[in-house]
Amino acid sequence: MKLSRFGQKFAGESGIVELMDDLGTALNENPDMIFMGGGNPGRLQQVEAIFQQRLDDIMDDPRQRHSLFGIYQSPQGDKEFREQVASFLNKQFGWSLTGNNIAISNGSQAAFFVLYNMFAGDMGNGESNAIHLPLAPEYLGYADVGLSDNFFTATRPSIELLDDRLFKYGVDFSQLDLGNHTGAMCVSRPTNPTGNVLTDDEISHLDQIAREKDVPFIIDGAYGLPFPGIIFTEAKPHWNDNTILVLSLSKLGLPGARTGIIVANEDIIQAYTNANTIVSLACGTLGPALAKELFKTGEIVSLTRDYVTPFYQQRAQQTAQWLREKLGDVPFHIHKPEGAIFLWLWFEGLPITSQELYQRLKKRGVLIVPGHNFFVGMDDDWAHKHECIRVSYAQDAAIVKRGVEIIAEEVAAAYEDR
Ligand code: PLP
Repeated sequence: MKLSRFGQKFAGESGIVELMDDLGTALNENPDMIFMGGGNPGRLQQVEAIFQQRLDDIMDDPRQRHSLFGIYQSPQGDKEFREQVASFLNKQFGWSLTGNNIAISNGSQAAFFVLYNMFAGDMGNGESNAIHLPLAPEYLGYADVGLSDNFFTATRPSIELLDDRLFKYGVDFSQLDLGNHTGAMCVSRPTNPTGNVLTDDEISHLDQIAREKDVPFIIDGAYGLPFPGIIFTEAKPHWNDNTILVLSLSKLGLPGARTGIIVANEDIIQAYTNANTIVSLACGTLGPALAKELFKTGEIVSLTRDYVTPFYQQRAQQTAQWLREKLGDVPFHIHKPEGAIFLWLWFEGLPITSQELYQRLKKRGVLIVPGHNFFVGMDDDWAHKHECIRVSYAQDAAIVKRGVEIIAEEVAAAYEDR
């Protein structure tokens, strides 16, 4: 097979593909594997029951059923749904959006692919721009989306040690330098993998820097407000004309519906829509159809508030507690769990790499993700990158507890040089 440059980059081996393959193979080989590695949301029965009810309502109505399966949706997304989203965000946060500020994508991952490549890569004048991540570690799924190489740059975070074996990353503004070749800046808030929530001050400072440099500020709200609302601190949602906010229905419990929502100024929405026409032709209808019902009934607010947020908050605290109990005297720190569905563990001075720890844990039947994968855009030899792991706490409590016990045993063994 003779591959183009595009083919070599996208059809070949890449970090994320290799890791996903390895996780998939491990799961196939051992169905009892404790899966703390992936980004699947937890199963919440009450939430599933609401989805089922609303889907039944749609299926009982021949008109809605036809628009669910029998038509191509526009590449910008269903107009009624876009208007609903705009007025919902206006009501919740006091913004002044219209349906023209909203576009729908087939999952937010697909939106990032288009948006990032719109702003970074070969600029056509002999120069290349990059996407800057002002606080890495960041979402692993960004790592390979660039059509060209050297697509990301990143700033190393500051580290604040807190009580109760916690720590928190911060944006190190003294080191943040966008230079002249940054096409856009992006943060996930809450952050995958760390569960960090950038503070309101950090966000407004970053916003100011982005506007001064005249580059868009992209905020990935896959876990954020207003839905799925997997956020445990007070944080003010942020949007203005220079912000691109990307939301998703996935972590609400609908990853299979592949629905992302882009909130941006009209020029960016139009540009995105043109690109999406080429890439996707049309948007999927399932997520918007279901979400329209949730917006109409107000369940979009109540199911987040009553079920989703409390489930993850309780689980995060419980898992952190189990870790403190089981890890004992090992020199560990847990990133302060402020949101998302993971805990980020830092084993200071770990005698083996996090990749080796991943391999040992896999042998013991536990899958986690080794930390170095998340330092997207950071090619330095910072030891910290190899001392961290990401663990999901979205699975059943008993499974998570067992996983924590095994992690603690293997980490202790590593420090004892076994
Ligand atoms: N952004 C973040 C931070 C994520 O963790 C994920 C998935 O795990 C995505 C984006 C992509 O989500 P989706 O394409 O399902 O909307």
